[in-house]
Amino acid sequence: MTHVFHRSPKNPLPLAVKGAGAYITDETGKRYIDACGGAAVSCIGHGDVRVLEAVQRQMSEISYAHTSFFTSAAAEALADHLCAASPVPLDKVYLVGSGSEAVEAAIKMARQYHLERGEASRKLVISRHQSYHGNTLGALSVGGNPPRRKPYGPFLLEEPKIEPCFAYRYAKEGESAEDYALRAANLLEGKILELGPENVVAFLAETVVGATAGAVAAEAGYFRRVREICDRYGVLLILDEVMCGSGRTGTFLACEEENVTPDILTLAKGLGGGYQPIAAVMCTANVYDTIVNGSGGFVHGHTYSAHPLACAAALAVQKIIRDDDLLANVRARGAQLQERLQARFGNHPHVGDVRGRGLLQAIELVEHRDAKTPFSPERRIGAAIKKEAMAAGLMVYPGAGTIDGVSGDHVLLAPPYNVDAETIDLIVDRLGLAVDAAL
Ligand code: PLP
Repeated sequence: MTHVFHRSPKNPLPLAVKGAGAYITDETGKRYIDACGGAAVSCIGHGDVRVLEAVQRQMSEISYAHTSFFTSAAAEALADHLCAASPVPLDKVYLVGSGSEAVEAAIKMARQYHLERGEASRKLVISRHQSYHGNTLGALSVGGNPPRRKPYGPFLLEEPKIEPCFAYRYAKEGESAEDYALRAANLLEGKILELGPENVVAFLAETVVGATAGAVAAEAGYFRRVREICDRYGVLLILDEVMCGSGRTGTFLACEEENVTPDILTLAKGLGGGYQPIAAVMCTANVYDTIVNGSGGFVHGHTYSAHPLACAAALAVQKIIRDDDLLANVRARGAQLQERLQARFGNHPHVGDVRGRGLLQAIELVEHRDAKTPFSPERRIGAAIKKEAMAAGLMVYPGAGTIDGVSGDHVLLAPPYNVDAETIDLIVDRLGLAVDAAL
């Protein structure tokens, strides 16, 4: 009998006893390839002693000092590292403990920015359907995952949403990628005008959509157009890179590839790589100066903000990514993974789409390939594939088809940045067996 309130108590879980590289071992000695980093978290694999040593060193100096009394060398060094690594001008870093906290802070930061400028009427955040921004009430409000929102409807802020840029699902027959990108971005302008620009705080989007739609990158040009629209109406652009940032897509920030600088950006999972819970909100000098030269400070904070042990772990993880040149491996192994998935599932009758960027890749499952009809949610196809994969010693991250039948179940893959070529082959082989066993 367990006293832990597990997520799904009716599905008993194996007990993990060891993590090493791309593998997790349970108490029976069974080994699982961690092909999804849990939820795209374990970016350098498990058990790296360099992180262990950094955390031990930090703990032997100081474990905790509240941020209203002290700063710490670990927080300062981590913020310096992130700003230096950022190819776009993001100058300040606000450190918190999880992706949801980062999204909450980003939204509040955007609202406070407008208040400082005397634009108190701005109170709406436009976001997108088929998105996920976290499970706390503010982050859930701006997220577009109906099953997760449903039980808490009465608690949520009513935040307006537009369609994402998701070519497989929304591009019209015969429409060029360029035309579709513009059409999708122009939905934002339509929504801003409908609501009144004077009421809009920010537009919030995942640069590459992770958990809800499954590794969906926008068409080229979409985010540049979004940036123009935001600038035209004084709306801040917040990019949520909790899942796709910190190198996951092959560049330090996913927005590098879009050639766009957001006003505010969130990072989390690959920041600490699972060694400690940590997340960051990066912002431009303009956002920071407007707040600091206005009322003087950000009206926000948590007891565990910028926790020194978490900062030390994240700095060690980020240095490993840099020193081991892991982004080059993300690009090479990402291309291999994409190729192998295409080869294995490109003609599969129940795989409608293979997509992704870098080491964030997904397959979308459909009942009828030509009509792109999703499986009925009751079939719980993603969950069934996860179960078969676990039996075969493979961890994959399933997502349910959610948006009123518009998109299907998908399975997300996010192996560590230092994964090797043989392991990529093994992942695709085992996934193929799991998909066929589940269908
Ligand atoms: N934003 C994105 C894009 C995410 O993928 C997630 C988690 O999956 C979150 C926010 C929430 O992060 P956390 O689970 O750390 O609160």
